Amino acid sequence: MPIDPGLQRKLIAEVAQSIVGHTDELTALDQAIGDGDHGLNMKRGFEAVLAELDKTAVLPIHEALKAVGTTLVMKVGGASGPLYGTLFIALGKTFPELPTRAGVAQAFSAAVDAVKMRGKSDVQMKTMLDVLVPVLGALSQGSENLYARLRATAESAAAATVPMQAVRGRASFLGARSVGHMDPGARSSWLMVQTVVDVLEREGLAMKEDENRAASR
Ligand code: ADP
Ligand code: MG
Repeated sequence: MPIDPGLQRKLIAEVAQSIVGHTDELTALDQAIGDGDHGLNMKRGFEAVLAELDKTAVLPIHEALKAVGTTLVMKVGGASGPLYGTLFIALGKTFPELPTRAGVAQAFSAAVDAVKMRGKSDVQMKTMLDVLVPVLGALSQGSENLYARLRATAESAAAATVPMQAVRGRASFLGARSVGHMDPGARSSWLMVQTVVDVLEREGLAMKEDENRAASR
């Protein structure tokens, strides 16, 4: 069965609320190794996403993802706006109407590739990709213990950006002084993954491996 509008609404709303609720933390992280705007950039974007919730909650999931991505491109600003916008728009391009674990992994893989292309970046550069790529790895490894693995992977991957030296984005201007702080985009990506997992788990939904059903109770 397709994702029902109630669940879709919760997913979009709670991801947005989680980002908005962590504005100060994202600001502080970006103050340490950037220009301090990541919190407000993301807050502006996800408040706009919340304002469009009545529309996006009832769109087919792939269209909803594209709409969210387009809003992020237009509203977030900074480097992270086009990059998160690209992530959601690319996710929407191939996101399965009847989501299975494998289908979602495939769409997420295409979306991560699109971010790499857009950012001319890859893992080990101290960016959001240092969370997104390991999360894709966890998602690609099958359904067993999936939500716990996704949550743990996002957390440890974000923590692993602390000792990295930045190679992309403003933090790279700091050279060795970028070491010792978590990347702000890694933190916002961790928040999004954690929130999606929290909602799916709380709703008692397990992603199906290969059945044509989004989830089953
Ligand atoms: P800006 O750097 O323009 O001030 P933000 O502060 O909103 O924009 O976002 C910074 C975050 O964007 C970084 O923490 C990093 O995760 C991510 N980022 C920056 N440049 C790139 C890139 N080329 N590829 C992937 N992610 C990037
Ligand atoms: Mg910034």
